[in-house]
Amino acid sequence: MSYSKINEACKRKKIALDVDGTLADVGSLWIQSYNKLKGTSYDVNDMLDWNHESIGSNISEMHDLYIKIWKDHYNGIKFEGDICRIKELCRHYEVDIVTSREYDTAYELGIWLEKNGLSWLPVVINNPNKDKSLLDYDLYIDDSPILAENIDKNKSKLLYIVNRPWNRNVEETGNIIRVEGVNEALDMLIEKSAAMDLEIANE
Ligand SMILES: [Mg+2]
Repeated sequence: MSYSKINEACKRKKIALDVDGTLADVGSLWIQSYNKLKGTSYDVNDMLDWNHESIGSNISEMHDLYIKIWKDHYNGIKFEGDICRIKELCRHYEVDIVTSREYDTAYELGIWLEKNGLSWLPVVINNPNKDKSLLDYDLYIDDSPILAENIDKNKSKLLYIVNRPWNRNVEETGNIIRVEGVNEALDMLIEKSAAMDLEIANE
């Protein structure tokens, strides 16, 4: 095996694994709270854009309500990942949980991660105003259409975009791959790495 191949095999790719809308189904609780607040009867499938304008909300209200959900209802936020797959992923890649949020919900996030068996993973809290695509990661698993726009400009990175109503307009490109849920992305990445290992071993 050539030295370049050995180097490639040893250099593990870095993955940024998102929380809200990816590992955590916060949207369901968000829309319930919003309906209670506004006397409306929307469901998650009505949330057709990132700023929730399709249901008459706006970025500031959306943001405040997400903070409230994390502060008051973090125990009810559904975990949509699979621990066995995440552990397997970590055998192949360097994985961080990377979440754009204010520090004021970091405590609740920590409890939620512990409750769902993820407290051993490194957590990076990204300033919501900072573009995640500028961070030092090769691969992203995320639901954000804004991140998709930015990753599309940076072909050295790859985004697995988790299917959500608010990112329905994002089109697949060479470096944006749509997945049904976070577990499909985990399976694809594990398979991809295992196939690469096999290819290297056979040389
Ligand atoms: Mg997200």
